[in-house]
Amino acid sequence: MKVVAVLLAAGSGKRFGEKKQFIKLKGEPLFQYSLNTINKIDDITDVVLVLPEEDIDRTKVFSFKNVMKVAGGKERQDSVYNALKSVEKADIVVIHDSARPFATEKMFTDGIKNVKEGWDGSITALKSRDTIKEVDRNTVKRTLNREKLYIVQTPQTFVFEKLLYVHEKARENNIYGTDDSFLMEMEGFRITVNEGSALNFKVTTKEDLLLANCLIKGKKPF
Ligand code: C5P
Repeated sequence: MKVVAVLLAAGSGKRFGEKKQFIKLKGEPLFQYSLNTINKIDDITDVVLVLPEEDIDRTKVFSFKNVMKVAGGKERQDSVYNALKSVEKADIVVIHDSARPFATEKMFTDGIKNVKEGWDGSITALKSRDTIKEVDRNTVKRTLNREKLYIVQTPQTFVFEKLLYVHEKARENNIYGTDDSFLMEMEGFRITVNEGSALNFKVTTKEDLLLANCLIKGKKPF
């Protein structure tokens, strides 16, 4: 079975203020941390690294895998689509945000195992420890049942042909989701969860970057 990883690093850094995927932590750019983890996973043979078009030539990559660089699109979903279209053949695809440098080997291998065992997809998720409420214009509307709520992360692993199909369909209908699993769920595919971690946070703010630096250097954040 051919397993391909798609590593998303084509964000424009509009919210963050700069392209966070290239920020160096202990000498290595953020995206390289995920590649270092992917390097350890025997099942994955190929990586599609999605980058902003203007950064493709200058971006240096260290990998034991066969890495193909592809230009990203306007939205995250467009970047995933470009990556999927560049893959000639695959059985399983693992999508990962390079903004999550602390995804573990186990998150990748658990997802791949679940799909090999027959699930259409497996997403890394963490049971909510906090109570989550729906709030509309500063008014609390309702309290959701915590037992059923999961915080969703990447990696997310899918049957390649099925993910490509739902992406094609979403493009036709101009539907955008915040993750790939959403598009699969819309088409009725069966998705399971594999265990995430609070440490697998997405570097989104300067505070997250501080935390990431401390984790890597083994320092206390405050
Ligand atoms: O912007 P956000 O942090 O939610 O992006 C999640 C991941 O998707 C990041 O790793 C980012 O580099 C990637 N991305 C992308 N193409 C885009 C937007 C985001 O590859 N157009």
